[in-house]
Amino acid sequence: MLPLGDDLAGRWCWSGAWTYAVGDRATPGAPGPEGVPVYHLLRGLVPAAAGGGQHQGADLANGQPGGTVRAAAHGLVVAVERGAGTNGYGSHVVLAHRLCDGTLAYSVYAHLLPGSATARAGDPVWAGEPVGRVGRSGRASTDHLHFEVRIAGDPGRRWEHARAVDPLEFVAARLPGHRADTTWAGAYLDWGQSAGLADAEGRGDAPLERATWHVMLARAARHPLLRLPGSAALLDAALVEEGVLPLDRGDVAGAPLSWSELARDLARLEQVGIRLPPGPLPGILHDRTCAIRLGFGHPTRHLKRLERRGPGDPTLAEACLLLADLAGAAPAPPPEAAPER
Ligand SMILES: [Zn+2]
Repeated sequence: MLPLGDDLAGRWCWSGAWTYAVGDRATPGAPGPEGVPVYHLLRGLVPAAAGGGQHQGADLANGQPGGTVRAAAHGLVVAVERGAGTNGYGSHVVLAHRLCDGTLAYSVYAHLLPGSATARAGDPVWAGEPVGRVGRSGRASTDHLHFEVRIAGDPGRRWEHARAVDPLEFVAARLPGHRADTTWAGAYLDWGQSAGLADAEGRGDAPLERATWHVMLARAARHPLLRLPGSAALLDAALVEEGVLPLDRGDVAGAPLSWSELARDLARLEQVGIRLPPGPLPGILHDRTCAIRLGFGHPTRHLKRLERRGPGDPTLAEACLLLADLAGAAPAPPPEAAPER
């Protein structure tokens, strides 16, 4: 089912935060970008156990075809039907997501406008990237998005056999946690959360704990581990094994992480390779943020300068900023699809 070679598995980004696929990304019932009308819930999940007409997802509509449907989280395309299909879903896209606890989840986007799904199986997709446009292909009498989230008990079985959960509740429980933070840090913390680097509660200005940084490294680096070891000691050993951490580090127990350690680890991380989405801001804004926060742009190109930075130790938000710098700036945002009529 999953087109997963070792190389692809190693590059597959974790899915930390999730957002809504249509309308506003974080607020249900709010208009989407560029004034796209509000999407309403036509019909929610009806579990099989409820009897009668089972419904495996949420139907979202705003009375118009053509609205942009976005990936709800970072994932891999596992199935694409460009035409009408045969299973009632019409044109649809299925993404596979690895949650931070090691669970495999699928998100399903169905009844798309024929021809609007352009991804190919095996493609990585970043959260918020368009995967198609709202239509009524397949078994649908109105224009709407049929959106599902499924949790795979057995990764070897096809997505249709995975257990459907309430997709809107699922997203609501995983929204980015720093949206209200309007300082420079908010965007970087949410970016970090989307890739599983930081959690919703992490304080951006808190000194970066070594254990937290090691989890960030393990999420950011390419390696074949499908689950991260639960204990700090085993995680450290795995990071040494994968070449992300040096064997003899001389960590001082309890001492905060230093800028020179951070610079050392970023250099090794670049060697090993990363699996991170493009950063949250376009290049010019990212460069400006780096210049203000760190005193110079492209900090991961100037690790010697970073090493000597001080006073004060690195914070969680600064670590996210540096990993985003390694990942590269955000591409120009795609235009939101205009309604068709
Ligand atoms: Zn439906």
